[in-house]
Amino acid sequence: GAGDGNRSVVHKHSATADHYDLRLELDGVLKSWAVPKGPSLNPADKRLAAATEDHPIEYLDFEGVIPAGEYGGGPMIVWDRGTWAPMGDAHRDLGKGAFKFRLAGEKLRGGSMLTRRKGREGDDNKVNWLLFKEHDMAVDTETDILAARPESVKSGRRIEELVAPAAPAKPARLQP
Ligand code: MN
Repeated sequence: GAGDGNRSVVHKHSATADHYDLRLELDGVLKSWAVPKGPSLNPADKRLAAATEDHPIEYLDFEGVIPAGEYGGGPMIVWDRGTWAPMGDAHRDLGKGAFKFRLAGEKLRGGSMLTRRKGREGDDNKVNWLLFKEHDMAVDTETDILAARPESVKSGRRIEELVAPAAPAKPARLQP
């Protein structure tokens, strides 16, 4: 519930370009990274993750279509959600650009790493990070989790269903 302070969400977002948004609750906001190719359970996959502005906590549960013309206009689903825990001092590690954390989501589990890419001197390159899976029991080098589990963990819907022509209402998939 509210105040737990360690909730996480990964949105799948189809805006100007398709991407996934990793969001971690910290200090009353959602620290956010846009990951164009999405997260992977294979440690060999190093995924670009562009830091974006902190989002309000209320965004954790958002699923729907952001109106065209607004920032991030397009459909967005709750692709994964759960909790997270730092594997060190989160503030210090974010500051130094080597941030290791553990996810306990419905699709993503175990350790992950975000490393800030160094730019040339004078480059404002602080927004670019790399996201990759740490070696642990949750590694899966066989399954493309993005293809295997495209659905929302909130509603069971795929992102395409949010913009499909109106169809007869059907009940959302039951959650355990
Ligand atoms: Mn986004």
